[in-house]
Amino acid sequence: MRKNIVAGNWKMNKTYAEAQELMFQLLEYKKNNTTNCEVYIAPPALYLTTAKEVFKNGEVGVFAQDVSEYASGAYTGEISVDMLASVDADGSLVSHSERRTFHGETDNHANRKVKALLDKGLTPIYCNGEKLEERKAGRHFEVVKNQTETALFTLSAEEIKKVVIAYEPVWAIGTGETATAEQAQEVHAYIRSLIADKYGKEVADEVSILYGGSVKPDNAKEIFSQPDVDGGLIGGAALKIEDFSKIIEGFN
Ligand code: 13P
Repeated sequence: MRKNIVAGNWKMNKTYAEAQELMFQLLEYKKNNTTNCEVYIAPPALYLTTAKEVFKNGEVGVFAQDVSEYASGAYTGEISVDMLASVDADGSLVSHSERRTFHGETDNHANRKVKALLDKGLTPIYCNGEKLEERKAGRHFEVVKNQTETALFTLSAEEIKKVVIAYEPVWAIGTGETATAEQAQEVHAYIRSLIADKYGKEVADEVSILYGGSVKPDNAKEIFSQPDVDGGLIGGAALKIEDFSKIIEGFN
């Protein structure tokens, strides 16, 4: 059975004190509420050890926002899978659109990062999605197909089951413009069909596919109610407990 997941990508936000405050608010929320989904956060890497201390009983999954494809060595500024494993992080986002835009990441990088994480038992949250001009040209299915195949289709069936996919149309990220629930469902169903064609339906049914892009308290429930949408990857609205908790409640 695939999991329902609400994951907060904090991006490059919050000082240490602010980050701690939000972690404690989230812990308090988790203690006082039953949630019908798993809750993850991806804070800046500097705060991962603190996050693991705060959520020491696994109340919230703790993810990096990026990870190196290399094992170790002279890669200034990078963080390896072994380092993440050594602080008990649960996994990492891979190839978020901002990594693609500002750091030239491609699906070939994504492929190596996903594999490196899986090899050490960590969970990749692989992000893809089309740009505005690609959507306007009606090329979104083709773009997402190429991305998914390049990044994931060298994996075995057992491996791909452990990957979380986040479909994040670039035109919907941080813009306030959300894909409609139907637009999200249509692409999610398509991604699942690609996996089914390659690995079989049983495998495809195990993979959680999250939607990301301007998910807010007032649209979360409708988006999450779609049959192939297994949750959300939340940016701006993950930075305040009031908003993030309401999004989590989209599964209630
Ligand atoms: P917003 O929710 O701010 O649009 O960001 C989405 C995102 O990029 C999550 O990774």
